[in-house]
Amino acid sequence: MGRAAGGGDALTMERMPYSGLVTTVSAGGEITDSAAASTALATGYKTENGMLGMMPDRKKVETILERCRQFGKSAGIVTNEAVTGATPSGFAVHVPDRGLTPQIAQQLVESGAQVMMGYGRDGFVPAAEAGAAKGGPDLAAELRKKGYQIVYTRDELAKSKDLRLVGLFDEQKAPALPEMVRAALARLNRDDKGFFLIVEQAKVDWKDGDPSGVALDVLELDKAVQAALDYARHRGRTLVLVAADHETGGLQIQNQALLATLKGVKASAGGIAGRLDRDRTSIKEVMKADAGIDDLTDAELNQIKSAKDAEAAIGAVISQRTGLKWTAGHTATPVRVFAFGPGAEQFTGEMDNTDIPKRIAAVLGLGPFAGSKQ
Ligand SMILES: [Zn+2]
Repeated sequence: MGRAAGGGDALTMERMPYSGLVTTVSAGGEITDSAAASTALATGYKTENGMLGMMPDRKKVETILERCRQFGKSAGIVTNEAVTGATPSGFAVHVPDRGLTPQIAQQLVESGAQVMMGYGRDGFVPAAEAGAAKGGPDLAAELRKKGYQIVYTRDELAKSKDLRLVGLFDEQKAPALPEMVRAALARLNRDDKGFFLIVEQAKVDWKDGDPSGVALDVLELDKAVQAALDYARHRGRTLVLVAADHETGGLQIQNQALLATLKGVKASAGGIAGRLDRDRTSIKEVMKADAGIDDLTDAELNQIKSAKDAEAAIGAVISQRTGLKWTAGHTATPVRVFAFGPGAEQFTGEMDNTDIPKRIAAVLGLGPFAGSKQ
């Protein structure tokens, strides 16, 4: 879908030289959530859904980011969602429940990661300030005490020269993912011993049923991949991996020719719905401008106009037009991994998500990891 929306050429990630297929189920063979998937990718162990950096019996397990820190490497965490979200924080925290945002934020403050960037201030401001009744610790103050600069907008990031940086961006003034990747790499780059950086394109996971939304998110991810490859290519010492925590949406492509009509879409279904006027008289204009559909039928028009949820209806119309079908939520369908750089050839064939950090540890010479021999 991303390829179709971008005009049909292979994505940057698809041009990476090595690729494999990754199974993702969580402990007990369940369809994974993002917490168990993050734990698998970070620690090499399967756990139960909802848990971060812990086994089902609550025993803490080391993450690949922590092992890198032990070997003197610097570390960074970047996402276009809250940095306390399950996927990014799973590389640095140990909690029995992904919803324990205050504990997750506290553990991120203690993680020693040199760069942390995400959208929103979840968990980092006193609860009173965030509108909740009871106050909590002021983690922003703790971060400053530890020598971090905190930035809240794209402009502040552009002006920042500090090497220890936390970005808690206001969503309206946030840098895009590729910018955050470049800013993180510019800071992590200073260390001879190397670094580990986890970057998440979070938003694609919330858009099942929304072809243009998924496609645009994939294209943004692809630009972030390009930023990483630009860095890696002229240094020759950086392994770049592009992985997914799980499939979302149970997507079926039923007609390749129809899929191509995604070319040039400009907004997600939510974005399109947000641009409609209150009485939804502007459906035709907006669908033409943002979805490239200039021959909306009366049936489709009514489908959107009469829907309780305009966003879902717009996603459904675009799905029909592009020959896409969806189930809902996460599935256990295996996902791709793409690899570039030293050791990239280790990430081919079929593997489990728990193999990924073990292989990273082997490539980086970090000793046995997650029970693997080396
Ligand atoms: Zn996820």
